[in-house]
Amino acid sequence: MLDIAKIRADFPILSRKVNGHPLVYFDNAATSQTPTQVIDCIVNYYQHYNANIHRGVHTLSQEATDAYEYARDVICRHFNAKHREEIIFTSGTTHGINLVANGYVSLLNKGDEVIVSALEHHSNIVPWQMLCEKTGAKLKVIPMTDAGELDYAAYKNLVSENTKLVFVNHVSNALGTINPIKEIIELAHTYNAEVLIDGAQAAPHIQADVQALDVDYYVVSAHKMCGPTGVGVLYGKKASLEKLPPYQGGGEMIDQVTFEKTTYAGLPHKFEAGTPNICGGIAFGRAIEYLHEIGFDEIAQYEDELLQYATQELLKIEGLKIYGTAPEKTAVISFNIEGLHPYDIGTIVDKLGIAVRTGHHCAQPIMDYYKIPGTVRASFSFYNTKEEIDDLVKAVKRAKIMLA
Ligand SMILES: *Cc1c(COP(=O)(O)O)cnc(C)c1O
Repeated sequence: MLDIAKIRADFPILSRKVNGHPLVYFDNAATSQTPTQVIDCIVNYYQHYNANIHRGVHTLSQEATDAYEYARDVICRHFNAKHREEIIFTSGTTHGINLVANGYVSLLNKGDEVIVSALEHHSNIVPWQMLCEKTGAKLKVIPMTDAGELDYAAYKNLVSENTKLVFVNHVSNALGTINPIKEIIELAHTYNAEVLIDGAQAAPHIQADVQALDVDYYVVSAHKMCGPTGVGVLYGKKASLEKLPPYQGGGEMIDQVTFEKTTYAGLPHKFEAGTPNICGGIAFGRAIEYLHEIGFDEIAQYEDELLQYATQELLKIEGLKIYGTAPEKTAVISFNIEGLHPYDIGTIVDKLGIAVRTGHHCAQPIMDYYKIPGTVRASFSFYNTKEEIDDLVKAVKRAKIMLA
């Protein structure tokens, strides 16, 4: 059992008011809030040991380097990576995906195929389209079902000897569907195709074990798991990362530089050109430790209670339809009310202090499938409460009356 009152006290932002009402923050799928433990870690860095890493012999630089590399170890253990150099710091999920897509430009030929799913965030679609344009490879799409799940039977028919790479998300940010990634990876591997999993939406709720999954690449953003914005991680199997060329050139990623020829540093530095988000990386490690202090199993169980309760209460509102009804879901509810525009609902509930997301959630293909312009999305975290869900239900009812 989680002590929610104690947990809420860790998040100073939760005690502010919005439009005269206590803030109810239900936009966790877009970014999560930051606990004092992580804020303190950031302040401590800038107050005591702000310095560039891996370069100076002076004390501050060594302290910053130690803290940054300690964070890499925390993240390595969290994902159960085999080697610490398989953890590449990035600016976030989007950066991680682009790094791999860019590397694949030199690995694909005309006639090769890559497979994406209809459930993806735009950041797991557009880089691959760019890759296909550059290489002449073909992009194939796993269709989705009415419940908002991947059509696994269709995937079985799509994957073939021509498939080089498959990329799907672990959890859909628009619908909350948890995808059967282990099966997806296994099948791709029987054809020697690599798999990249976009873990941005899963990471705050599910502790992925990259070795058990046997996944080739797994990408996340810190800001969805109680860390700061502008930092994330690309996990890649050592052999996979070694065959990818560097993404950006610059300092930190080299071994020897002459004008005739430059040789590159080994992993992970080959992919970490320039001064990174040092403080962000350190704070990301602290955020993961914080989540472990609470416990991933406890988080998943409590969030599921919130999901079940909110689903049941929202469905009592006449004309309300929930999109994404897969049995395996994280705590995300995408909904619309017949005859009303999601934007109008979002605006009214904000007047009552409640933050929800409205729109296509960077997943236009899903909206096209349902033939809707967008949805209202309420996404819950372990610091939310059933009372807050009651507030949302009341606010949505009020919006319905006002907009009728
Ligand atoms: C948030 C999100 C992204 C993008 O993450 P950034 O931090 O903006 O790079 C990609 N995929 C999914 C599933 C997401 O939820």
